[in-house]
Amino acid sequence: MTRLFNKILIANRGEIACRVIRTARAMGIGTVAVYSDADAHALHVDLADEAVHIGPAPAAQSYLCADKILDIAKRLHVDAIHPGYGFLSENADFAQTCEDAGIVFIGPTADSIRKMGLKDEAKRLMTLAGVPVVPGYLGADQSEAHLNAQAREIGYPVLIKAVAGGGGKGMRRVDNEKDFAASLKGAKREAAGAFGNDHVLIEKYIQKPRHIEVQVFADGRGHGVYLFERDCSLQRRHQKVVEEAPAPGMSPALRRKMGEAAVAAAQTIGYRGAGTVEFIVDVEHGLDGAPFYFMEMNTRLQVEHPVTEMISGEDLVEWQIRVAAGEPLPLDQGDLAIDGHAIEVRLYAEDPSRDFLPATGTLNRYRPPMDEDFTRVDTGVREHDSISVHYDPMIAKIITWGEDREAALHHMAQALSETEIAGLATNLPFLKQVIAHPEFASGNVDTGFIPRHADALLPEAAPASDICLALATLGILAAREDRAFNEAARSNDPFSPWHDPSGWQANLASCECQDYIDGAGTSRSVKITITDQGYRLEIGGQRYDAQIRAHMEEGEIEAEISGQIYRATILVNPEQVQVIFAGNTETLKRLSAKFDPEEDADGPGAITAPMPGKILDILVSDGDFVEKGQALLVLEAMKMEHTLTAPRDGTVSNLSAKTGDQVSDGAVLVTISD
Ligand code: ADP
Repeated sequence: MTRLFNKILIANRGEIACRVIRTARAMGIGTVAVYSDADAHALHVDLADEAVHIGPAPAAQSYLCADKILDIAKRLHVDAIHPGYGFLSENADFAQTCEDAGIVFIGPTADSIRKMGLKDEAKRLMTLAGVPVVPGYLGADQSEAHLNAQAREIGYPVLIKAVAGGGGKGMRRVDNEKDFAASLKGAKREAAGAFGNDHVLIEKYIQKPRHIEVQVFADGRGHGVYLFERDCSLQRRHQKVVEEAPAPGMSPALRRKMGEAAVAAAQTIGYRGAGTVEFIVDVEHGLDGAPFYFMEMNTRLQVEHPVTEMISGEDLVEWQIRVAAGEPLPLDQGDLAIDGHAIEVRLYAEDPSRDFLPATGTLNRYRPPMDEDFTRVDTGVREHDSISVHYDPMIAKIITWGEDREAALHHMAQALSETEIAGLATNLPFLKQVIAHPEFASGNVDTGFIPRHADALLPEAAPASDICLALATLGILAAREDRAFNEAARSNDPFSPWHDPSGWQANLASCECQDYIDGAGTSRSVKITITDQGYRLEIGGQRYDAQIRAHMEEGEIEAEISGQIYRATILVNPEQVQVIFAGNTETLKRLSAKFDPEEDADGPGAITAPMPGKILDILVSDGDFVEKGQALLVLEAMKMEHTLTAPRDGTVSNLSAKTGDQVSDGAVLVTISD
């Protein structure tokens, strides 16, 4: 095989950088990674042939620095740059500068990116090309009065969208006129912060929509194909969490119609490379014959491209590289066929019970599923890596394939049950609930699925089982036995009873208690008594005879409890114990007797910043009476707005924050007192 390029630079990080490096290597192409301070030890840096530091952790000073990246590309004589997704991938100026410098940009031309870059421009172009678009207002008059009048004319509910938007930012659904002004303000503020452009458009809000997008590929010389559709209807905060291909219930006729509309959209702008044309399909009266509307075109590879790869058998990154090198499209439309079904879930560091608030922390334990026959895992992190505030909190994409949807779902349930993760909040339990939900299994999905089934998908945490509490306690005892053993090994009198690892310990009273608060917020106590064989544990009046049979590296233990053998991983630290057992992770807070579970360490009713961020708006004043759930402050963190609400009824006091303040993680912002 002749090499298309000698060397490419990947202007990205995380799982997409790793994924591109793997394909390039398989094609015999050298790879250059770039990395920020936060990523010095990241997986993509280890995988690449060469890696160059580009600056501090914030993306604006590293991965978004077009000049620095181009300088490196020139200095290291790379032939082409793959931008991945996000960061510079849809930056027309960057694409242009690459081409001007004689370095191939693996993506479309700057002109195509510009044409599809703003949602209003793109919709105008598509209307001219005869592609259907959602009814709405695209005009230049951005005054509140005019936009308000337009919304009234379109008819509520409407959707306000930032024209420069992406990732669900700068978007607000408005159900009636009285909320319009506040939503417009929020959308514009978020858009200005995230994109430096606060222009919005207004669209009719489709009540029962499905998000179905078409993968297209074009060679820039008038030839284009579609690699079928993906259904991305499962969303939270207007962002995708589960994607699949093909779309459940899709007829061949509608597939062809949407596929051809998507290729027409690409050809209108002389497109080159991989692109995705996103449609919103109004499924009020079912999918057959449903009207579909162009929403936007993403002029890059999508996060969810693996499901297309799994059903088409094609490597889309390889296609991108070939087309960028000037080769024709590898296949014609007639050569492409769908084989089976694929589903992808995005494993995020986030807390579904707190409106999917992004989470940060260290992956104390991270074991993705092992099966390679039906499962693919795209990840950019390893165990002990951390998820920082600087970048997207996605940990991995887990993709499964099956002969049909039912088989793919079955493999997904299996893959999720094998996934072990601890150290930070993740959406893993939530994903398991989604995959197991009968409505999802029946293929009855639309973008309202998650909010509609929130109760089933986000069940109240159940109290920890006795076995879980017993395992946690044995984990603590095992760690203590290990310590005693290690000390004995180091001491000059290894036979001293002070070092007997099996039971007798001077620092353990003949009877001791370990107290916890479980995930349901209940305080639980385990009374431990040493016996001849091991330990007797008393939990809520029940007695269990237990023994630690083996204690392996990294917290894995084998224990016998009431004659039954259990294997689990127990991660112990002074604040908490995490029990990873039977596909679940349970976190138990360790507490001293004084700790009151109703009150956190900052005192009753203290509202703290859940992550570092900036105060955008303060909606209450000291002395105000507020009801549980009432909005108090708006915080911007990880480029999203988060509304902090009152945990209970009460009076606002100690309002220390001011609009514009930068606050750190855990800072007390306001107190709600009786
Ligand atoms: P972004 O570029 O920020 O991701 P999109 O325009 O792609 O925004 O829309 C994101 C999601 O918002 C869609 O997948 C869909 O679920 C929802 N959405 C967009 N437009 C509409 C609409 N007119 N009616 C109802 N839902 C919509």
